Amino acid sequence: MEQLTFLAVHAHPDDEASSTGGLLRLLANQGVRTVLVTCTNGEYGDALDGAKPGTSDHDGDEVAKIRAVELEKSVDVLGVSRLVRLGYRDSGMIGWPQNDNPEAFWSTPVEVAATRLAAILREERPQVIMTYNEIGFYGHPDHIQANRITLAALKMIDFEPTLYYNAIPNSVMALYRERWAQEERERRAADEAKGIVREPESDDGDELDMGTPDDQISAVIDVADVSDAKFDALAAHASQMGESFWMKMGREEFKTVMGNEWFVRVTNPKGIEEVVTDIFAGYR
Ligand SMILES: [Zn+2]
Repeated sequence: MEQLTFLAVHAHPDDEASSTGGLLRLLANQGVRTVLVTCTNGEYGDALDGAKPGTSDHDGDEVAKIRAVELEKSVDVLGVSRLVRLGYRDSGMIGWPQNDNPEAFWSTPVEVAATRLAAILREERPQVIMTYNEIGFYGHPDHIQANRITLAALKMIDFEPTLYYNAIPNSVMALYRERWAQEERERRAADEAKGIVREPESDDGDELDMGTPDDQISAVIDVADVSDAKFDALAAHASQMGESFWMKMGREEFKTVMGNEWFVRVTNPKGIEEVVTDIFAGYR
């Protein structure tokens, strides 16, 4: 039988774990070749000590070094067959001056990065590929750019893979929001008990419409059996995940809450009409 190959185009180290960690491990267990393309080095993530980008004790190049090692660990845990780092500089959040750095992914012409991605696609000939939707799932410029270069690269190759965007159904997003609101209330109460008055956090991002209407979801992948690997892959990104709601859940709860990954089918060369539970539906 033909070798099945899955290719994911992700923006930063850690995105492979958060949105496709389960799927990547599951496919590896099935003998599917998995290729991860990570577009940026993630310079503008948090530093290991929690220092935020834009503050004086945040060194983007140091952060990138740490994240490169973390990505290596995550890829190991997920059994990824091949990791390709495009090596662009993190563009930071939208509107940041870092957007305009000539080395930033955001300021790289789409065609230039797409040409590199197309070369990888020709080498690997994946049947199924994945990236983010046009709003980059949550509006981050590097995620938007990942979408753009993927769509452009697909026009440069002589075969048509099935393309999926990652997604979270609105019904699940509502549960997450409830959880975040609850955490926020608890933090506030704890602070008040200590006499600390906190400025309300700006909620850009939070209010962005990250959910997808449930009836637009076209693949629901049950990843509960590989949830430990997904948890470990996230944990490998220690600099970014220390305080994340995933880590706070702990392994057991993570398994029940994070038991699925969802995708929306964008290209459909196999003419699939139903909601699938196997991302390679139509190919095996
Ligand atoms: Zn990202």
